[in-house]
Amino acid sequence: MISNCLAYARAAKNQGRPIVGIMCEFTPRELILAAGGVPVCLCGGSAATAAAAESELPAGLCPLIKSTYGYHLQRSNGLLEMADLIVAETTCDGKKKMFELMGRSRPMYILELPQKPDDSDARSHWLVELRKFRTFLESRFSVRITDGRLREAIDLMNRERQLRRQLAWRMRSDPPPMSGRQLLQLKSTISGIPADLEQYERMLQLLDAGPVERHLAGRARVLVTGVPLVHGAERVLELIESRGGVVVAMENCTGLKPLVEEICTGGGDPLAGLAETYFHLPCSVMTPNRRRLELLRELVKEFRPQCIIEVVWQGCLTYDVESALVRQLVQEELHLGYLKLQTDYSPSDSARLGTRIEALLETLPQRSPHGD
Ligand code: SF4
Ligand code: SF4
Repeated sequence: MISNCLAYARAAKNQGRPIVGIMCEFTPRELILAAGGVPVCLCGGSAATAAAAESELPAGLCPLIKSTYGYHLQRSNGLLEMADLIVAETTCDGKKKMFELMGRSRPMYILELPQKPDDSDARSHWLVELRKFRTFLESRFSVRITDGRLREAIDLMNRERQLRRQLAWRMRSDPPPMSGRQLLQLKSTISGIPADLEQYERMLQLLDAGPVERHLAGRARVLVTGVPLVHGAERVLELIESRGGVVVAMENCTGLKPLVEEICTGGGDPLAGLAETYFHLPCSVMTPNRRRLELLRELVKEFRPQCIIEVVWQGCLTYDVESALVRQLVQEELHLGYLKLQTDYSPSDSARLGTRIEALLETLPQRSPHGD
């Protein structure tokens, strides 16, 4: 998936399509697609570029922000270099302020996110914000984003979400048909590529014929929650699976969180449908963020994990603070094993994290290799 992205973006740019970088699941890719653009996720997952960013950014900042900015400084992310526009979502403080620095030399649009998911005024404000974004894209790229074009883009993204959800849903079986790492590998950094959708369909057919991975029976079933594990930053997932677990579900933004709901337009205003669905994303930058706990409850019912591992990047205050609520839910209500892993992109703590993961898995009831 990833290796094809650069070639796809180059070909699209040569055909005159603008490349639009995003860094948060709140940006509706549908609007960018309806403007003829290519929505590209620019979140950095490289330890090397995270370190390079420390020449300008605080060392204690989240590695996802530092890595993205390091790519910017080094001009070493081909997709970022191709970008005609960056959408700067006002998520956490670190990202917001990093965008200010990046915006000195790159074209940028600030998309203001809602803060209060239970507030009807916040919902209306979000719709207004998306209207402004639509108008901006129309003027910037000299196109009209008609309701018809927007509906087509929504259909395409609904299809992509549906296929990725079906793939993720296969992990409910015991044993699961593939590892969590293999599933994550199916995620692209560019959305709406028709060839990707064909590959997802082929993958589903392959899974119908039998499991991809035949050695997962008896492993401890793990649900991962917390920060996104973007391309290049999958180390914790790999550690869990190398220590005897299998990640059957990921609640985070590189997992199921943005896939669980489809955009419903129902013949009404497609922009209102978009606004409504994206408004529900249970991110820790919202307050309160009860929907994340509800989603965790639902996923536990569906995927039957034995434990939940929460991953928090160093410097990510919102997920760090919220972990107290997640721990309470997991231990006092769901009665599952819980472990919080706080780390950055450097592999220097891999041995320590591995030992903590092993210690958690050892406390879980042993499962038979026949999947009981
Ligand atoms: S975790 Fe929150 S800030 Fe990060 S991509 Fe997801 S919605 Fe955006
Ligand atoms: S992981 Fe946390 S600190 Fe890092 S960009 Fe996302 S919300 Fe911000």
